[in-house]
Amino acid sequence: MNLVLLGPPGAGKGTLAARLVEAFGFVHLSTGDILREEVKKGSELGKLAKGYMERGELVPDEVILGMVRERVDGETDGFLFDGFPRTIAQAEGLEEILPVHLVIYLELPEEEVVRRLSARRVCKNCGANYNLITQPPKAPGVCDRCGGELYQRPDDREDVIRNRFRVYLEQSAPLIDYYEGKGILRRVDASLSPDEVFHRVAEVLRG
Ligand SMILES: [Zn+2]
Repeated sequence: MNLVLLGPPGAGKGTLAARLVEAFGFVHLSTGDILREEVKKGSELGKLAKGYMERGELVPDEVILGMVRERVDGETDGFLFDGFPRTIAQAEGLEEILPVHLVIYLELPEEEVVRRLSARRVCKNCGANYNLITQPPKAPGVCDRCGGELYQRPDDREDVIRNRFRVYLEQSAPLIDYYEGKGILRRVDASLSPDEVFHRVAEVLRG
């Protein structure tokens, strides 16, 4: 079975993916992570992708698909995709690589996205991540690990989050229609606790 996780920033895709990998043995492919790794390694695809990112452009579908094809390496089963596909062209390209059996759409209302993401804090010194709601530091404003000062990244400001959320909805709407049309999309309420979200998704997976 190959699974795709869709959902806005803050819906908990990363946390859920980690639990699904543990429980079901999926191979987790996050195109964001792959991009960062390829860039760091300085591979051909990485160099290509870096050029686009430095110019502030989207990495083209063909480059992303090339990375996925390389990672999948001829296997056709047991993958969990997170943060991918983002476009219909990517979804169609993915189908040429392997079949997608199930798409989980983690639904989260705008206000909850804002509440979760605006609670993020990062250590100025060591870069450790915190969340004032789900993972607060022991002392307010101070890093547990190194005592550094915590700050809010400009990306996590409310107006920026609202904008990202709207962009996400606009971009993902065609993709949701596409998978719904194929009859493989399942919606899951991501405002529930991480445990409850996991159990609901596990139920869907067990059929
Ligand atoms: Zn720190």
